[in-house]
Amino acid sequence: MADKPELAVVPNKAEVVVIGAGPSGAIASALLHRAGVDVVVLERDRFPRFSIGESLLPQCMEYIEEAGFLPALRAAGFQYKNGAAFAWGERKTYFNFEEKFSPGPGTTFQVERARFDQLLAEQAELQGVPIAYQHSVTSYTETADGVRLGYSDSDSNSGSIECRFVLDASGFGRVLPRLLGLESPSDFPVRQAAFTHIDDGIRDVSFDRNKILITVHPEERDIWYWLIPFANGKSSLGVVASAEKLAQRGASSPLELLQTMVREAPSLAETLSAAQWNCPANQLTGYSCNVKHLASNRYALLGNAGEFLDPVFSSGVTIAMRSASMAVRVLLRQLAGESVDWQAQYERPLRQGVATFRVFVDAWYDGLFQDIIFYPDQAENLREMISSILAGYAWDSDNPFVAQPKRRMNTLAQYCSSVT
Ligand SMILES: Cc1cc2nc3c(=O)[nH]c(=O)nc-3n(C[C@H](O)[C@H](O)[C@H](O)COP(=O)(O)OP(=O)(O)OC[C@H]3O[C@@H](n4cnc5c(N)ncnc54)[C@H](O)[C@@H]3O)c2cc1C
Repeated sequence: MADKPELAVVPNKAEVVVIGAGPSGAIASALLHRAGVDVVVLERDRFPRFSIGESLLPQCMEYIEEAGFLPALRAAGFQYKNGAAFAWGERKTYFNFEEKFSPGPGTTFQVERARFDQLLAEQAELQGVPIAYQHSVTSYTETADGVRLGYSDSDSNSGSIECRFVLDASGFGRVLPRLLGLESPSDFPVRQAAFTHIDDGIRDVSFDRNKILITVHPEERDIWYWLIPFANGKSSLGVVASAEKLAQRGASSPLELLQTMVREAPSLAETLSAAQWNCPANQLTGYSCNVKHLASNRYALLGNAGEFLDPVFSSGVTIAMRSASMAVRVLLRQLAGESVDWQAQYERPLRQGVATFRVFVDAWYDGLFQDIIFYPDQAENLREMISSILAGYAWDSDNPFVAQPKRRMNTLAQYCSSVT
Protein backbone atom coordinates (compact mmCIF):
# COMPACT_ATOMS: atom_id res chain seq x y z
CA MET A 1 0.00 0.00 0.00
CA ALA A 2 1.25 3.49 -0.89
CA ASP A 3 2.24 5.82 1.94
CA LYS A 4 -0.30 8.45 2.73
CA PRO A 5 0.75 11.91 1.58
CA GLU A 6 1.63 14.40 4.32
CA LEU A 7 0.15 17.86 3.99
CA ALA A 8 3.13 20.02 4.98
CA VAL A 9 1.60 23.41 4.17
CA VAL A 10 -2.07 24.29 3.83
CA PRO A 11 -2.57 25.83 0.37
CA ASN A 12 -4.21 29.24 0.22
CA LYS A 13 -6.76 28.09 -2.36
CA ALA A 14 -8.86 25.01 -3.08
CA GLU A 15 -12.08 24.37 -4.95
CA VAL A 16 -13.77 22.90 -1.87
CA VAL A 17 -12.77 22.90 1.81
CA VAL A 18 -14.20 20.28 4.13
CA ILE A 19 -14.24 21.16 7.84
CA GLY A 20 -13.62 18.00 9.89
CA ALA A 21 -12.28 14.53 9.03
CA GLY A 22 -14.88 12.45 10.91
CA PRO A 23 -17.14 10.02 9.01
CA SER A 24 -18.99 12.65 6.98
CA GLY A 25 -15.81 14.61 6.17
CA ALA A 26 -13.84 11.53 5.15
CA ILE A 27 -16.60 10.25 2.87
CA ALA A 28 -17.34 13.66 1.32
CA SER A 29 -13.69 14.51 0.65
CA ALA A 30 -12.96 11.13 -0.92
CA LEU A 31 -16.02 11.35 -3.17
CA LEU A 32 -15.00 14.83 -4.30
CA HIS A 33 -11.41 13.81 -4.94
CA ARG A 34 -12.54 10.75 -6.89
CA ALA A 35 -14.60 13.14 -9.08
CA GLY A 36 -11.50 15.24 -9.79
CA VAL A 37 -12.28 18.13 -7.43
CA ASP A 38 -9.42 19.97 -5.70
CA VAL A 39 -10.44 19.44 -2.07
CA VAL A 40 -8.67 20.17 1.24
CA VAL A 41 -9.77 18.96 4.69
CA LEU A 42 -9.05 20.99 7.83
CA GLU A 43 -9.34 18.85 10.98
CA ARG A 44 -9.11 20.32 14.48
CA ASP A 45 -7.68 17.25 16.22
CA ARG A 46 -4.85 14.81 15.76
CA PHE A 47 -6.07 11.26 14.94
CA PRO A 48 -6.64 8.80 16.53
CA ARG A 49 -8.96 10.56 18.95
CA PHE A 50 -11.92 9.29 20.96
CA SER A 51 -15.40 9.73 19.54
CA ILE A 52 -18.74 8.32 20.64
CA GLY A 53 -21.06 6.49 18.22
CA GLU A 54 -19.75 2.97 17.85
CA SER A 55 -22.65 0.93 16.49
CA LEU A 56 -23.01 1.31 12.73
CA LEU A 57 -26.08 0.55 10.60
CA PRO A 58 -25.90 -1.56 7.41
CA GLN A 59 -27.15 1.31 5.24
CA CYS A 60 -23.87 3.18 5.84
CA MET A 61 -21.93 0.38 4.13
CA GLU A 62 -23.22 1.72 0.81
CA TYR A 63 -21.52 5.07 1.38
CA ILE A 64 -18.34 3.43 2.67
CA GLU A 65 -18.27 1.40 -0.55
CA GLU A 66 -19.05 4.46 -2.71
CA ALA A 67 -15.99 6.19 -1.21
CA GLY A 68 -13.80 3.15 -1.91
CA PHE A 69 -13.15 2.37 1.77
CA LEU A 70 -14.89 -1.01 1.99
CA PRO A 71 -11.93 -3.39 1.43
CA ALA A 72 -9.89 -1.63 4.14
CA LEU A 73 -12.84 -1.65 6.54
CA ARG A 74 -13.47 -5.35 5.96
CA ALA A 75 -9.78 -6.11 6.57
CA ALA A 76 -9.63 -4.14 9.83
CA GLY A 77 -11.07 -6.86 12.08
CA PHE A 78 -13.91 -4.88 13.65
CA GLN A 79 -16.77 -6.73 15.37
CA TYR A 80 -19.32 -7.98 12.83
CA LYS A 81 -22.87 -6.72 13.44
CA ASN A 82 -26.10 -8.17 12.05
CA GLY A 83 -28.83 -6.71 14.19
CA ALA A 84 -30.17 -5.17 17.37
CA ALA A 85 -31.38 -6.96 20.51
CA PHE A 86 -33.74 -5.40 23.05
CA ALA A 87 -34.37 -6.42 26.68
CA TRP A 88 -36.88 -5.18 29.23
CA GLY A 89 -37.00 -7.24 32.42
CA GLU A 90 -37.73 -10.80 31.34
CA ARG A 91 -38.85 -9.68 27.87
CA LYS A 92 -36.36 -10.05 25.07
CA THR A 93 -36.57 -9.54 21.34
CA TYR A 94 -34.19 -8.94 18.49
CA PHE A 95 -34.11 -7.82 14.87
CA ASN A 96 -31.90 -9.51 12.31
CA PHE A 97 -31.01 -6.83 9.79
CA GLU A 98 -30.69 -9.38 7.00
CA GLU A 99 -34.44 -9.98 7.35
CA LYS A 100 -35.60 -6.61 6.15
CA PHE A 101 -37.95 -4.99 3.65
CA SER A 102 -35.46 -2.78 1.78
CA PRO A 103 -32.72 -4.02 -0.54
CA GLY A 104 -29.08 -3.33 0.42
CA PRO A 105 -26.49 -4.62 2.88
CA GLY A 106 -27.83 -6.34 6.00
CA THR A 107 -24.65 -6.40 8.07
CA THR A 108 -22.09 -3.94 9.31
CA PHE A 109 -19.65 -3.50 12.22
CA GLN A 110 -19.37 -2.34 15.82
CA VAL A 111 -16.32 -0.10 15.92
CA GLU A 112 -14.01 1.67 18.32
CA ARG A 113 -14.42 5.09 16.76
CA ALA A 114 -10.84 6.22 17.36
CA ARG A 115 -9.59 3.44 15.09
CA PHE A 116 -12.55 3.56 12.68
CA ASP A 117 -12.36 7.32 12.08
CA GLN A 118 -8.60 7.10 11.63
CA LEU A 119 -9.05 4.31 9.09
CA LEU A 120 -11.57 6.32 7.05
CA ALA A 121 -9.42 9.45 7.11
CA GLU A 122 -6.31 7.48 6.13
CA GLN A 123 -8.18 5.83 3.29
CA ALA A 124 -9.18 9.27 2.01
CA GLU A 125 -5.54 10.40 2.30
CA LEU A 126 -4.31 7.30 0.48
CA GLN A 127 -6.64 8.22 -2.38
CA GLY A 128 -4.97 11.64 -2.45
CA VAL A 129 -7.11 13.83 -0.18
CA PRO A 130 -4.93 16.32 1.71
CA ILE A 131 -5.91 16.52 5.40
CA ALA A 132 -4.41 19.20 7.65
CA TYR A 133 -4.71 17.85 11.21
CA GLN A 134 -4.69 20.21 14.18
CA HIS A 135 -6.10 22.99 12.05
CA SER A 136 -9.21 24.47 13.59
CA VAL A 137 -11.53 26.61 11.47
CA THR A 138 -12.26 29.89 13.23
CA SER A 139 -13.90 32.23 10.71
CA TYR A 140 -16.03 32.31 7.56
CA THR A 141 -16.19 35.26 5.18
CA GLU A 142 -18.02 35.32 1.86
CA THR A 143 -15.99 36.76 -1.02
CA ALA A 144 -17.04 37.80 -4.54
CA ASP A 145 -16.88 34.27 -5.88
CA GLY A 146 -16.63 32.00 -2.84
CA VAL A 147 -15.58 31.85 0.78
CA ARG A 148 -12.48 32.61 2.85
CA LEU A 149 -12.04 30.38 5.89
CA GLY A 150 -9.73 31.40 8.70
CA TYR A 151 -8.02 28.72 10.79
CA SER A 152 -5.50 28.37 13.59
CA ASP A 153 -3.07 25.50 14.08
CA SER A 154 -1.75 23.77 17.19
CA ASP A 155 0.96 26.44 17.61
CA SER A 156 -1.72 29.16 17.44
CA ASN A 157 -0.49 30.26 14.02
CA SER A 158 -3.39 31.57 11.99
CA GLY A 159 -3.97 31.42 8.26
CA SER A 160 -6.72 31.42 5.70
CA ILE A 161 -7.82 29.48 2.65
CA GLU A 162 -10.15 30.55 -0.15
CA CYS A 163 -12.53 28.18 -1.89
CA ARG A 164 -15.65 28.08 -3.98
CA PHE A 165 -17.63 25.97 -1.51
CA VAL A 166 -17.43 24.73 2.10
CA LEU A 167 -18.73 21.42 3.42
CA ASP A 168 -19.08 21.67 7.18
CA ALA A 169 -18.47 18.18 8.59
CA SER A 170 -17.42 19.44 12.03
CA GLY A 171 -19.91 17.33 14.00
CA PHE A 172 -20.64 18.69 17.47
CA GLY A 173 -18.00 21.37 16.73
CA ARG A 174 -20.88 22.87 14.65
CA VAL A 175 -18.55 25.41 13.11
CA LEU A 176 -20.83 27.11 10.56
CA PRO A 177 -24.01 26.93 12.67
CA ARG A 178 -22.13 28.89 15.34
CA LEU A 179 -20.29 31.31 13.02
CA LEU A 180 -23.36 32.04 10.88
CA GLY A 181 -26.01 32.00 13.61
CA LEU A 182 -27.79 29.00 12.07
CA GLU A 183 -28.46 27.15 15.32
CA SER A 184 -32.06 26.37 16.16
CA PRO A 185 -33.15 24.48 19.26
CA SER A 186 -33.89 20.77 19.05
CA ASP A 187 -37.45 19.88 19.99
CA PHE A 188 -36.23 16.92 22.03
CA PRO A 189 -35.94 17.29 25.83
CA VAL A 190 -32.45 17.62 27.28
CA ARG A 191 -31.08 14.13 27.77
CA GLN A 192 -27.78 12.96 29.14
CA ALA A 193 -25.56 9.99 28.32
CA ALA A 194 -22.89 8.49 30.57
CA PHE A 195 -20.60 5.93 28.95
CA THR A 196 -17.34 4.01 29.14
CA HIS A 197 -15.48 1.04 27.70
CA ILE A 198 -15.27 -2.10 29.84
CA ASP A 199 -13.62 -5.51 29.68
CA ASP A 200 -17.06 -7.08 29.50
CA GLY A 201 -16.12 -10.53 30.85
CA ILE A 202 -19.19 -12.06 29.18
CA ARG A 203 -18.83 -15.85 29.25
CA ASP A 204 -22.47 -16.73 28.50
CA VAL A 205 -22.30 -18.47 25.09
CA SER A 206 -25.89 -17.52 24.34
CA PHE A 207 -24.96 -13.83 24.45
CA ASP A 208 -24.93 -12.55 20.87
CA ARG A 209 -21.90 -10.30 20.31
CA ASN A 210 -23.08 -9.59 16.76
CA LYS A 211 -25.85 -7.30 17.98
CA ILE A 212 -26.06 -4.09 19.96
CA LEU A 213 -28.05 -4.80 23.14
CA ILE A 214 -30.50 -2.08 24.16
CA THR A 215 -31.84 -2.62 27.68
CA VAL A 216 -34.87 -0.70 28.97
CA HIS A 217 -34.85 0.31 32.63
CA PRO A 218 -37.26 -2.02 34.51
CA GLU A 219 -39.43 0.76 35.97
CA GLU A 220 -38.64 3.93 34.01
CA ARG A 221 -39.11 3.13 30.35
CA ASP A 222 -37.55 6.37 29.14
CA ILE A 223 -34.19 5.26 30.58
CA TRP A 224 -32.17 2.87 28.46
CA TYR A 225 -28.70 1.38 28.20
CA TRP A 226 -26.52 0.41 25.26
CA LEU A 227 -24.03 -2.46 25.26
CA ILE A 228 -21.96 -2.58 22.07
CA PRO A 229 -19.57 -5.55 22.04
CA PHE A 230 -16.23 -5.08 20.27
CA ALA A 231 -14.03 -7.76 18.74
CA ASN A 232 -11.49 -7.74 21.58
CA GLY A 233 -13.56 -8.72 24.63
CA LYS A 234 -14.32 -5.11 25.38
CA SER A 235 -17.68 -3.39 25.06
CA SER A 236 -18.98 0.12 24.96
CA LEU A 237 -21.53 0.64 27.72
CA GLY A 238 -23.75 3.66 28.17
CA VAL A 239 -26.93 4.87 29.83
CA VAL A 240 -29.29 7.57 28.55
CA ALA A 241 -31.94 9.44 30.53
CA SER A 242 -33.19 12.93 31.20
CA ALA A 243 -30.54 14.96 33.00
CA GLU A 244 -32.95 15.37 35.98
CA LYS A 245 -33.43 11.64 36.41
CA LEU A 246 -29.70 10.98 36.37
CA ALA A 247 -29.05 13.85 38.79
CA GLN A 248 -31.51 12.23 41.24
CA ARG A 249 -29.10 9.30 41.61
CA GLY A 250 -26.66 11.66 43.38
CA ALA A 251 -23.57 10.00 41.89
CA SER A 252 -20.26 11.79 42.34
CA SER A 253 -18.76 10.80 38.95
CA PRO A 254 -19.90 9.50 35.55
CA LEU A 255 -18.40 6.09 36.40
CA GLU A 256 -20.30 5.86 39.71
CA LEU A 257 -23.47 6.97 37.90
CA LEU A 258 -23.07 4.27 35.26
CA GLN A 259 -22.40 1.58 37.86
CA THR A 260 -25.42 2.71 39.89
CA MET A 261 -27.63 2.64 36.82
CA VAL A 262 -26.45 -0.82 35.77
CA ARG A 263 -27.33 -2.17 39.24
CA GLU A 264 -30.88 -0.90 38.65
CA ALA A 265 -31.26 -3.16 35.58
CA PRO A 266 -30.83 -6.73 36.91
CA SER A 267 -30.62 -8.50 33.54
CA LEU A 268 -27.83 -6.18 32.38
CA ALA A 269 -26.09 -6.36 35.76
CA GLU A 270 -26.14 -10.16 35.46
CA THR A 271 -24.69 -10.04 31.92
CA LEU A 272 -21.90 -7.78 33.18
CA SER A 273 -21.29 -9.54 36.51
CA ALA A 274 -17.67 -10.36 35.58
CA ALA A 275 -16.92 -7.06 33.87
CA GLN A 276 -13.84 -5.04 34.73
CA TRP A 277 -14.44 -1.33 34.85
CA ASN A 278 -10.96 -0.16 34.04
CA CYS A 279 -11.59 2.94 31.90
CA PRO A 280 -12.77 6.34 33.04
CA ALA A 281 -16.36 7.22 32.11
CA ASN A 282 -17.56 10.30 30.29
CA GLN A 283 -20.84 12.09 29.98
CA LEU A 284 -22.57 14.29 27.44
CA THR A 285 -25.65 16.40 28.07
CA GLY A 286 -28.00 18.13 25.63
CA TYR A 287 -26.47 16.68 22.46
CA SER A 288 -29.66 16.93 20.34
CA CYS A 289 -29.35 19.89 17.99
CA ASN A 290 -30.78 21.43 14.85
CA VAL A 291 -30.25 24.30 12.41
CA LYS A 292 -32.44 26.77 10.53
CA HIS A 293 -31.27 25.46 7.17
CA LEU A 294 -28.69 23.00 5.88
CA ALA A 295 -27.27 24.67 2.79
CA SER A 296 -26.81 27.74 0.61
CA ASN A 297 -24.94 28.22 -2.66
CA ARG A 298 -21.66 28.60 -0.65
CA TYR A 299 -21.91 25.89 2.00
CA ALA A 300 -23.68 22.71 3.10
CA LEU A 301 -23.83 21.21 6.58
CA LEU A 302 -23.20 17.47 6.88
CA GLY A 303 -23.96 15.02 9.69
CA ASN A 304 -24.02 16.41 13.20
CA ALA A 305 -23.02 19.86 12.01
CA GLY A 306 -26.62 19.97 10.79
CA GLU A 307 -28.92 17.97 12.99
CA PHE A 308 -28.50 15.29 15.65
CA LEU A 309 -31.55 13.50 17.01
CA ASP A 310 -30.78 10.88 19.61
CA PRO A 311 -28.47 7.88 19.97
CA VAL A 312 -31.15 5.23 20.56
CA PHE A 313 -31.26 3.82 17.02
CA SER A 314 -27.55 4.33 16.23
CA SER A 315 -28.49 6.47 13.24
CA GLY A 316 -25.85 9.24 13.60
CA VAL A 317 -23.01 7.88 11.47
CA THR A 318 -25.44 6.66 8.80
CA ILE A 319 -27.11 10.07 8.54
CA ALA A 320 -23.66 11.70 8.47
CA MET A 321 -22.47 9.49 5.61
CA ARG A 322 -25.75 9.76 3.71
CA SER A 323 -25.60 13.55 3.96
CA ALA A 324 -22.03 13.49 2.60
CA SER A 325 -23.03 11.37 -0.38
CA MET A 326 -26.11 13.48 -1.15
CA ALA A 327 -24.35 16.83 -0.76
CA VAL A 328 -21.45 15.79 -2.99
CA ARG A 329 -23.87 14.87 -5.77
CA VAL A 330 -25.46 18.32 -5.73
CA LEU A 331 -22.10 20.06 -5.32
CA LEU A 332 -20.58 18.31 -8.34
CA ARG A 333 -23.44 19.63 -10.46
CA GLN A 334 -22.95 23.14 -9.08
CA LEU A 335 -19.20 23.03 -9.72
CA ALA A 336 -19.93 21.87 -13.29
CA GLY A 337 -21.93 25.06 -13.83
CA GLU A 338 -25.43 23.59 -13.54
CA SER A 339 -28.06 25.47 -11.63
CA VAL A 340 -28.94 23.55 -8.45
CA ASP A 341 -31.56 23.92 -5.74
CA TRP A 342 -29.98 22.94 -2.43
CA GLN A 343 -33.33 22.93 -0.64
CA ALA A 344 -35.04 20.65 -3.13
CA GLN A 345 -32.09 18.44 -3.98
CA TYR A 346 -30.35 18.16 -0.60
CA GLU A 347 -32.16 19.52 2.44
CA ARG A 348 -35.68 18.23 1.86
CA PRO A 349 -34.77 14.68 0.79
CA LEU A 350 -32.18 14.36 3.59
CA ARG A 351 -34.60 15.61 6.21
CA GLN A 352 -37.27 13.19 4.98
CA GLY A 353 -35.27 10.20 6.21
CA VAL A 354 -34.28 12.03 9.39
CA ALA A 355 -38.01 12.63 9.98
CA THR A 356 -38.59 8.87 9.84
CA PHE A 357 -35.97 8.33 12.54
CA ARG A 358 -37.57 11.18 14.51
CA VAL A 359 -40.92 9.35 14.60
CA PHE A 360 -39.14 6.22 15.83
CA VAL A 361 -37.23 8.17 18.50
CA ASP A 362 -40.42 9.90 19.73
CA ALA A 363 -42.20 6.55 19.84
CA TRP A 364 -39.29 5.01 21.76
CA TYR A 365 -39.49 7.56 24.57
CA ASP A 366 -43.34 7.48 24.56
CA GLY A 367 -43.14 3.72 25.04
CA LEU A 368 -45.14 3.07 21.82
CA PHE A 369 -42.24 1.55 19.95
CA GLN A 370 -41.36 -0.58 22.95
CA ASP A 371 -44.97 -1.88 23.02
CA ILE A 372 -44.53 -2.85 19.38
CA ILE A 373 -41.20 -4.62 19.59
CA PHE A 374 -41.97 -6.53 22.79
CA TYR A 375 -45.37 -7.62 21.44
CA PRO A 376 -45.06 -11.40 21.12
CA ASP A 377 -46.95 -12.22 17.88
CA GLN A 378 -45.57 -9.83 15.33
CA ALA A 379 -46.47 -10.17 11.67
CA GLU A 380 -43.36 -11.06 9.68
CA ASN A 381 -43.89 -8.36 7.02
CA LEU A 382 -44.25 -5.63 9.67
CA ARG A 383 -41.10 -6.84 11.42
CA GLU A 384 -39.23 -6.61 8.13
CA MET A 385 -40.39 -3.04 7.58
CA ILE A 386 -39.29 -2.08 11.09
CA SER A 387 -36.03 -3.99 10.66
CA SER A 388 -35.31 -1.89 7.56
CA ILE A 389 -35.57 1.36 9.49
CA LEU A 390 -33.45 -0.05 12.32
CA ALA A 391 -30.87 -1.03 9.66
CA GLY A 392 -30.80 2.60 8.50
CA TYR A 393 -32.97 2.42 5.37
CA ALA A 394 -35.02 5.43 6.43
CA TRP A 395 -35.09 6.93 2.93
CA ASP A 396 -36.68 3.95 1.16
CA SER A 397 -40.09 5.41 0.36
CA ASP A 398 -41.35 1.99 -0.76
CA ASN A 399 -41.39 1.11 2.94
CA PRO A 400 -44.78 2.18 4.39
CA PHE A 401 -42.96 3.14 7.62
CA VAL A 402 -41.00 5.70 5.59
CA ALA A 403 -43.94 6.90 3.49
CA GLN A 404 -46.19 7.46 6.53
CA PRO A 405 -44.09 6.88 9.63
CA LYS A 406 -46.33 8.47 12.23
CA ARG A 407 -49.57 6.93 11.02
CA ARG A 408 -48.03 3.46 10.71
CA MET A 409 -46.39 3.69 14.10
CA ASN A 410 -49.54 4.84 15.90
CA THR A 411 -51.79 2.26 14.26
CA LEU A 412 -49.43 -0.58 15.08
CA ALA A 413 -48.85 0.62 18.63
CA GLN A 414 -52.60 0.87 19.25
CA TYR A 415 -53.06 -2.67 18.00
CA CYS A 416 -50.21 -4.08 20.09
CA SER A 417 -51.31 -2.33 23.29
CA SER A 418 -54.98 -3.30 22.78
CA VAL A 419 -54.22 -7.03 22.63
CA THR A 420 -51.58 -7.22 25.39
C1 LIG B 1 -24.26 9.46 23.42
C2 LIG B 1 -24.16 9.27 21.95
C3 LIG B 1 -24.11 7.98 21.42
C4 LIG B 1 -24.05 7.79 20.04
N1 LIG B 1 -24.07 6.52 19.53
C5 LIG B 1 -24.09 6.34 18.19
C6 LIG B 1 -24.07 5.02 17.62
O1 LIG B 1 -24.07 4.00 18.33
N2 LIG B 1 -24.06 4.92 16.27
C7 LIG B 1 -24.05 6.02 15.44
O2 LIG B 1 -24.08 5.87 14.21
N3 LIG B 1 -24.01 7.26 15.95
C8 LIG B 1 -24.02 7.45 17.29
N4 LIG B 1 -23.95 8.71 17.80
C9 LIG B 1 -23.84 9.85 16.86
C10 LIG B 1 -22.45 9.94 16.24
O3 LIG B 1 -21.49 10.12 17.24
C11 LIG B 1 -22.41 11.11 15.26
O4 LIG B 1 -23.63 11.22 14.59
C12 LIG B 1 -21.29 11.00 14.22
O5 LIG B 1 -20.03 10.93 14.83
C13 LIG B 1 -21.38 12.21 13.30
O6 LIG B 1 -20.34 12.20 12.38
P1 LIG B 1 -19.83 13.58 11.77
O7 LIG B 1 -18.90 13.21 10.68
O8 LIG B 1 -20.99 14.45 11.47
O9 LIG B 1 -19.07 14.32 12.99
P2 LIG B 1 -17.89 13.85 13.96
O10 LIG B 1 -17.76 12.39 13.98
O11 LIG B 1 -18.17 14.54 15.25
O12 LIG B 1 -16.59 14.48 13.30
C14 LIG B 1 -16.40 15.88 13.29
C15 LIG B 1 -14.94 16.21 13.15
O13 LIG B 1 -14.83 17.63 12.99
C16 LIG B 1 -13.73 18.10 13.73
N5 LIG B 1 -13.92 19.52 14.06
C17 LIG B 1 -14.74 20.05 15.00
N6 LIG B 1 -14.60 21.39 15.05
C18 LIG B 1 -13.69 21.71 14.09
C19 LIG B 1 -13.09 22.94 13.66
N7 LIG B 1 -13.41 24.12 14.25
N8 LIG B 1 -12.19 22.91 12.65
C20 LIG B 1 -11.83 21.74 12.07
N9 LIG B 1 -12.34 20.54 12.47
C21 LIG B 1 -13.26 20.53 13.45
C22 LIG B 1 -13.71 17.21 14.96
O14 LIG B 1 -12.43 17.18 15.56
C23 LIG B 1 -14.12 15.85 14.38
O15 LIG B 1 -13.00 15.07 14.02
C24 LIG B 1 -24.01 8.92 19.17
C25 LIG B 1 -24.02 10.21 19.70
C26 LIG B 1 -24.10 10.39 21.07
C27 LIG B 1 -24.14 11.79 21.62
